[in-house]
Amino acid sequence: MSILESGKKKSWVPTMIGAVLLLCGIAFHRVPFPIQIEDDLRDALNSINGDVKGVLQDDGSVPPITESAPVETAEDKSAVSGLKLHFVNVFQGDAIYIELPGGKTALIDAGPAPDPESEYKTPIVSSFLKKRGVAKIDHLVMTHPHADHYGGLKWVFEELQVDHFYDTRIDNSDADGDNLAREQAKKEPGCVVHYPAEGDQLDWAQGVKVKVLHSCPNRGRSADHRPDVGAFLNNCSIVLKLSYQGSSALLMADAQEEVEARLVQTYGRGLQSDVLKVGHHGSKYSTTEAFLKKVKPEAAFIEVGKYNDFGHPTPDVLARLKAAGAKIHRTDKEGTIEYAMKAPRPSAKLFFGSIFSAD
Ligand SMILES: [Zn+2]
Repeated sequence: MSILESGKKKSWVPTMIGAVLLLCGIAFHRVPFPIQIEDDLRDALNSINGDVKGVLQDDGSVPPITESAPVETAEDKSAVSGLKLHFVNVFQGDAIYIELPGGKTALIDAGPAPDPESEYKTPIVSSFLKKRGVAKIDHLVMTHPHADHYGGLKWVFEELQVDHFYDTRIDNSDADGDNLAREQAKKEPGCVVHYPAEGDQLDWAQGVKVKVLHSCPNRGRSADHRPDVGAFLNNCSIVLKLSYQGSSALLMADAQEEVEARLVQTYGRGLQSDVLKVGHHGSKYSTTEAFLKKVKPEAAFIEVGKYNDFGHPTPDVLARLKAAGAKIHRTDKEGTIEYAMKAPRPSAKLFFGSIFSAD
């Protein structure tokens, strides 16, 4: 119970002392307050809601990437040392590059392989990673064995150092690229292979909670699940929820409505996330109304190619996201999109609650 709430029992003196501390803190927030108070004030003064920076897509075939590194200023410092998500424009496919606090990196999927007919010999994601000077991926995730997710992994293993590889045990019986990536992971010096299960928590960086909400850790072959092999593999996606400084992101890979229903049943309100990486490129089989009611995303990111044969994202999904109040971002329209996860803007309750809290 706070002092404000229990005013009858406690003297007004602590309240006055608190108010003076607050005013001093606003004017001189570098003055060494007790750690909790100083941290709260610093966060309150420095933090804003996570912001989005989009890069317009070129018309040509050169994959668009962020042209310039963000300038580091005193005000930006918390963001630079914080957590940033980059929804990399790999056309039709997924690749999410994550800068973790402390300098570590994660890559969730690597988009498609290069088209053998094209002049490009490396996958689209390679342009983004090379331009940023990325030499090492600490945590590499293959959410599920579909080519628009694992296609770029061959290049990643060949060109970059990978320390941890997260995989399902599902074999795409109609493809070889998934097993090639698995072989590469085994041969990668020092690389640890993980098969995360639902409920696991991954240790990626201090202050960052990475929870596995769904996966397929048991062995299986897609051929045993005909005729709807595509949906079966999509529903084997590793689904992660990242939480950092009170902000959260739900990364759905290609999970469909069956998984969403299960997540709603299991986690309910626990699904609430500021950011939603929309499942399955905005397909009509994902992003149900019931699911959105629990997630309540402020921002929704759709990784999708401008030209795709599937009609992604579907008008139904866009309408459902809009109705849920989410701001929609699409890689086919904005190119690679950067999102900095920061603490939500503090409310008066947080201010006074933290300073006057009696416990
Ligand atoms: Zn996909």
